[in-house]
Parts: sequence; C-alpha cells; structure tokens
Amino acid sequence: MSPETTFDAVIVGAGAAGMMCGRTAGQRGRKVLLLERSPKAGRKILISGGGRCNFTNLRVEPGNYLSDNPHFCKSALSRFTPLDFIHLVEKYGIAYHEKTPGQLFCDDRARRIVDLLLAECKAGGCIIKTGCAVRRIEKKNTFSVQTDSATYTAASLVVATGGLSYPETGATGFGYEIAEQFGLAVIACKPALVPLSYRSADRKRYGSLSGISIIAAVSTGGTTFTDAILFTHQGLSGPAILQLSSYWTPGRPITLDLLPHLRLDEAILKWKSERPKAELKTLLKEHLPERLAHRFLDLHGPSRPVRQLTERDGAALARIFHHWQIQPGGTEGYGKAEVTRGGIDTRELSSKTFESLKVPGLYFIGEVLDVTGWLGGFNFQWAWASGHCAGLFV
Ligand SMILES: Cc1cc2nc3c(=O)[nH]c(=O)nc-3n(C[C@H](O)[C@H](O)[C@H](O)COP(=O)(O)OP(=O)(O)OC[C@H]3O[C@@H](n4cnc5c(N)ncnc54)[C@H](O)[C@@H]3O)c2cc1C
Repeated sequence: MSPETTFDAVIVGAGAAGMMCGRTAGQRGRKVLLLERSPKAGRKILISGGGRCNFTNLRVEPGNYLSDNPHFCKSALSRFTPLDFIHLVEKYGIAYHEKTPGQLFCDDRARRIVDLLLAECKAGGCIIKTGCAVRRIEKKNTFSVQTDSATYTAASLVVATGGLSYPETGATGFGYEIAEQFGLAVIACKPALVPLSYRSADRKRYGSLSGISIIAAVSTGGTTFTDAILFTHQGLSGPAILQLSSYWTPGRPITLDLLPHLRLDEAILKWKSERPKAELKTLLKEHLPERLAHRFLDLHGPSRPVRQLTERDGAALARIFHHWQIQPGGTEGYGKAEVTRGGIDTRELSSKTFESLKVPGLYFIGEVLDVTGWLGGFNFQWAWASGHCAGLFV
C-alpha cells in the first residue's frame, strides 16, 4: 500500500467537529486525513450566527443539551471548555464580543474561525481533501474508506458528518448509515432549533401579523423560554420559538404569554380607576405592537372602554394574552433547522474517547450524535469539545 493512502486516522467530514479532531490528533503526531464532500471545509461555520459565528457560550452546562443519555456530554464539556476555545480564538487575534449574555460572536466574519481551524490542522500536518465524498466503508483489521477517486486505509475512522439540517452546506445522512452498517443504534432524528408552522386555519387568523417581534414566554410540556418571538407568514419563529422547537412534540400545543412583564388583570383594575374612559386597545398599544393588540381583540373579544370591563372580562383577557394556546401544524423542516435532534445513540460510545464500545477504532463526534445544544453557541462548543476529546485517542 502506498504511503499516501495509509493513515492513522481518517475523519469523514471537515466541519467544526472534524477539523477540531484533525487538529488535535495531528498535533499529537498522528497521521490524519480529513475527507470533505463539499468544495470547501466548514461551510456551516461560514453561515453560522448570521455570518459572525456564535462560536461558544460562556455559560455552557450539561443542562443546555438534549439527549436520551443526558450524562454523556458532561465529560467532554468539562475537558474542553469555552475558555479553551477562547484561547485559540485569541491566539489567532480574532476580535469577538459578547452579545446576548454568554454568547460570543466574531466581530467581523465567521471566515476567521474556519481559517483558525485550517491553520491548526496545517500545524498538525493534517491533510484535508475537499470535493471528496466518502461512499463506502469496510472493516477488516483496519478501515477501508472509499471515495470516487481513491481508497484509504486507517486504524481509526472518525465519523463527523454532522446532522441533516441545511442540506446545501453538505449535510447528509451518511453518518447514520455507517452507524447502522456497524450495528449501532440511532435515536430517531427530527429538525430542531427550527421555526414552527401554523395549521391552515391559524395561518388565516395570524398570518397578517407577519413581521411583528415581541418578547414572550413560550412553553411546552413544562419547558419555558422567555425571549423574542417573530410572527411570520408561515408561523412563529425567533429565538424563544427556536429553543422551544427542540422540546416540542408534534400534535402537542404550545402556550405563549404575550405580556410576560405585565399582570393584565391587575393592569385592568389600575386602568379602571385611573383612565376609565380609555379604550382597551389604546391601553394595550402601550405594551404590545398595535397590529397585534388589534388582531387579538378582533379575534377574541371587542375593544371597549375599560370602565365597562367586568372582573370576568379581565380574567378572560388575561387568559387570551397570558395563555395563548396554539397547536403548531409542524416545523419548517431541515431546510430551516439549525440542528438535528437525535442521532447516534451515545450509549454505544465511550464518553471519554468517543469510540464505539462494539467496534474498536470507530469514533463518532459532533452533531451526528444524539446530543443537541440550545441556541447560543452551545452546538459549536459540543463540536469543539467532542472533536478535541476524540482527537486525543484516535
Ligand atoms: C444556519 C445555521 C446557523 C448556525 N449557527 C450556529 C451558531 O452561531 N452557533 C452554534 O453553536 N451553532 C450554530 N449552528 C449549528 C452548528 O453549525 C452545527 O451544530 C455544527 O456545525 C456541527 O458541527 P459538525 O462538525 O458536527 O457538523 P458540520 O459542521 O455539519 O460538518 C459535517 C461535514 O461533513 C460533511 N459530510 C457529510 N457527509 C459526508 C460524506 N459522505 N463524505 C465526506 N464529507 C461528508 C459535510 O459536507 C459537512 O461539511 C448553526 C447551524 C446552521 C444551519
């Protein structure tokens, strides 16, 4: 076998996790090949965080991750922390800022993070071949990795193929196919961090609110997020809805408190004594966008001078604005989802090395695993941490 086709480790996928793994393994002196089907490495990083890459979060906790095996992520997250990645960012002189508390973004372009990873891979002598899709894997003593143009062999195979979201960035289900080929369980996948769409009757009722953004408390099944929501033509989006989507079960309703910082029943009592002649819609306009207040009053009860409102009316209005219940028709799918929930069952792997417990030499890292972070830099931190930790062992 010629030396160019034999490696200590072949990594499938040059995204966030794959490059991090290649860098760590290469800098340990391992001979590493990274194979990427897209023409460029790190395409998802380039479009992340609105082009500025929310590369980590200062407040990473295991509780920010969803998984059928919630303890699995703890070890890697504690061994490669946000500060470890920040050190790398500072080593390359990349300017960054904290946006929403804890969320760190590049000051200029996400490209800087990809350049950092490429430079780190180069420093470790890790070879990256782009435009090189892996088609088939076989295992005898070593792994045989087939692309359209060559076959490579390696003692370790790392699957870093990511999730199914944003297919235009190169996402494929190949990682799940490899898991199935080797008999590893896969937890059912679904789009997460994704806008929720209306059922058709609700689209008629609320579609005209498109473009309105407010702070709301959104809940489903006992989980609540308070943050911005955005009304769209198709449904509901914005950070609070994206977060909730990861917890939402199809067929279940979600509940929205559209006035989380006001007790409407108490406010009505106050208005009745202080401004009895004022119309409800005029008063609500001080707390909600006019279009939203009017639409909800049109749909759920006409506006009147507040002095005419009974205690019962007050309670009914509080229910409408604090407990707006809606049943989403679905999500906007993988085309609009930031991540994939589900993936390779982590009970199949060592939480220290990321190696399969059944198949020696086979590793899985990053989003392909059943570990899904919240919005806000948590998914990249998982990619860095899992990639780095596996890179210490391949
Ligand atoms: C629009 C958008 C914005 C986001 N913004 C943020 C953010 O700001 N902060 C954050 O923390 N997270 C963000 N995320 C999520 C984050 O990008 C992912 O969680 C992260 O990139 C996962 O890293 P990964 O290496 O596991 O997978 P990926 O980065 O998806 O990399 C997987 C790679 O494998 C390659 N591949 C697949 N199949 C094959 C094959 N057969 N052969 C060869 N190569 C293959 C793919 O082309 C891809 O390059 C965002 C996601 C999206 C879609």
